[in-house]
Amino acid sequence: MLEKKEILTTGKAKSLYATSDPSKLIMEYRDDTSAFDGKKIEQLAGKGTVNNRFNAFIMEHLESEGVKTHFINQVSDNESEVKKLDMLPIECVVRNIAAGSICKRLGLEEGIDIEPPTFEFFYKDDDLGDPMINEYHIYSFGWGEEKDVEEMKILTLKVNEILRKLFFKADLILVDFKLEFGRQDGVMYLGDEMTPDGCRVWDRETRKKLDKDRFRQGLGDVIESYQEIASRIGIDLK
Ligand code: ADP
Ligand code: UDP
Repeated sequence: MLEKKEILTTGKAKSLYATSDPSKLIMEYRDDTSAFDGKKIEQLAGKGTVNNRFNAFIMEHLESEGVKTHFINQVSDNESEVKKLDMLPIECVVRNIAAGSICKRLGLEEGIDIEPPTFEFFYKDDDLGDPMINEYHIYSFGWGEEKDVEEMKILTLKVNEILRKLFFKADLILVDFKLEFGRQDGVMYLGDEMTPDGCRVWDRETRKKLDKDRFRQGLGDVIESYQEIASRIGIDLK
C-alpha cells in the first residue's frame, strides 16, 4: 500500500505529495480555481472531485488508445497516484476552433474552424504570463531537445484526434486544450491533467461554453457545466 508523505509543491489548483515509492507521487486536486495567470482565484466546492474523476477517465481512455500517461489510479475522491515525472516547463496547445488568446493575437473571430488544427508552445511562467514560444526557444534556452519537441507535437495531435471523437459522440465540440509532458527513465509521458480547467468544450448545437471560460468570464454554473460534460461523455461522478 502506497504511503502518502510530505507535500512537495502547491500549484494553483493541485498539490503534489511524495510517497513511500520514490517513483510515484500523489496528486491532490483542490477546489481552488484560478484564471489570468493566478490573478483571479476562487474556491469552487466539488471541483477537486469532479476534476480528479474526469482526469482519471480521460487518462484511462488515452492509455487504451496507446498514449502513455502518468496516471496510475485514483486513491480518494480528489487524489490520484501518478508516476513522478521530470516535467518540461512547456504547455502544448492544440486548437480546432478559434477562441481565447489566438483571437486577440491574430485578430480572429471566435468560433471559426481551424483546419488543420493548429499547435502552439507556451513557456510555463506565470510571472511572464506564459508567453508563446517556438521550438528554437526550447533548444536555445535548454527547456528541451529536438526529440522532446517532436514527441510532444506528435502526442498532443494524437490526443486531439482521440478526444475530438470522444467529445463529438457526446454532442460536444473540443475547441482547444493544453497538455504538459515529462519523462521518467527516459520515457515521455503525458503528465498534469486533462480536465475542463485546461480545455474549451462547447455544446455542438448551441455552442454554449461548458469549460473554465464560465469562470473566466463570470458566466456562472461552472461546476454544473463540468458535471454536464462528464455525464455526457459517460463519466460516473458518484
Ligand atoms: P500550476 O503549475 O499551473 O500552478 P497546478 O496546480 O496544476 O498548476 O500544479 C501542478 C504542478 O505539478 C505543475 O507544476 C505540473 O507541471 C506538475 N506536475 C504535473 N504532473 C506531474 C508529474 N507526474 N510529476 C511531477 N510534476 C507534475
Ligand atoms: N490553458 C491552460 N493553462 C494555461 C493557459 C491555457 O490550461 O496556463 C488552456 C486554456 O484553458 C485553453 C487553451 O489552453 O483551453 C488555450 O488557451 P489560450 O492560449 O487561449 O489562453 P487563455 O486566453 O485561455 O488564457
